[in-house]
Amino acid sequence: MRDQPDARPADVVAVEALSPSIVRVVVEVSGFESLGVSDEGCVLTFPADGSSAAESDVERGHWYTVRRVEGDRVTFDVIVHEGGAASSWARRGKPGDQLSLTYQNSWMVRPEDAGWQVLLVDTTGLPAAARIVEEAPAGMRTIVVAEVPSAADEQALPGAEVTWVHNPEVVHGGSELERIAREVELPDGPGYVYVAGEAAATRAVRKYLRHELTLPAQSYGVIGYWRRDAAAWAERLARSSVDIGELWEQAEAEASNEEEAMDLYEERLGRAGLL
Ligand SMILES: Cc1cc2nc3c(=O)[nH]c(=O)nc-3n(C[C@H](O)[C@H](O)[C@H](O)COP(=O)(O)OP(=O)(O)OC[C@H]3O[C@@H](n4cnc5c(N)ncnc54)[C@H](O)[C@@H]3O)c2cc1C
Repeated sequence: MRDQPDARPADVVAVEALSPSIVRVVVEVSGFESLGVSDEGCVLTFPADGSSAAESDVERGHWYTVRRVEGDRVTFDVIVHEGGAASSWARRGKPGDQLSLTYQNSWMVRPEDAGWQVLLVDTTGLPAAARIVEEAPAGMRTIVVAEVPSAADEQALPGAEVTWVHNPEVVHGGSELERIAREVELPDGPGYVYVAGEAAATRAVRKYLRHELTLPAQSYGVIGYWRRDAAAWAERLARSSVDIGELWEQAEAEASNEEEAMDLYEERLGRAGLL
């Protein structure tokens, strides 16, 4: 992760509803440098009152995928849902508002020899999927299965074979990503599966890919983008004596690779009632 302890101003230059669930936000960040990886994200902090980032704190920062970079102009697609500082700002945001940007990171590590990629995403993973499709190397076969609330949230993804799954419950965390993953037929030969969506759903997909399909670890990347009932989980965490950073470090130290560490970490989180 590129460390940027000092929050950088991100001046809002455009806000546009792309669909009922997606608001496109373009900000200007002086000297922004892309990491050059299609699923790169930044932590954005949204002012509580929509007018100033001065009193905003890192606690309210959330990861958003960099959908596009044009010079200093950076585009994000924000999914609107019930509650949440980011989502509620997106409903009322306007040019002239100021956000702030702290961290940048990316997760996708597609093997060099991959001839295909399968992208399994809910609406929050759609910006990453769209950029991955746009930036796919020539000749790469790309299959996208995207779970969105309704047909009105579909978007064009030229160059990819796309299946849309309409699930109004996805906004309440009732994701069907695991069922979707089980129905996808992966092409033959070396490839890569990218999964992004609600944490419990992506956890189930990771288990399926790793323990049932027994895919090699380098052939998939699974990222939990958001957590249903986040407040209840945060309360459980606060009541427990668990330091999840420490738990992860222990798992990493005991395991021989990151996927094994994830198995250990999730098992221990489960025992602590923190899944
Ligand atoms: C690497 C990465 C990239 C991401 N990219 C994007 C992106 O491009 N676009 C995007 O919109 N999101 C993206 N997310 C997810 C986003 O960070 C979370 O959805 C974030 O929690 C939203 O913040 P909030 O302030 O709106 O809600 P929070 O304050 O986090 O949560 C408030 C309530 O809303 C619920 N909630 C949070 N997110 C959702 C949701 N998406 N749908 C329904 N309920 C929700 C929570 O469970 C909680 O009950 C990404 C996450 C990661 C880790």
